[in-house]
Amino acid sequence: MKIRCPICKEMTTWEENPWRPFCSERCKLIDLGKWAAEEYRVEGKKEEEEDEQEKGEDS
Ligand SMILES: [Zn+2]
Repeated sequence: MKIRCPICKEMTTWEENPWRPFCSERCKLIDLGKWAAEEYRVEGKKEEEEDEQEKGEDS
């Protein structure tokens, strides 16, 4: 059975392919890295709000 690698669009085989559905370890890592990068971006989104209130002191 022949499949097409979703990363580089190269044709590869399903049987005896440890990296399926990818054609190689490199494409598998690219796909994993893509998901990891998206998760990291969401989790790393922090909004720090600092309330700086100026107090006027009457002398
Ligand atoms: Zn590939």
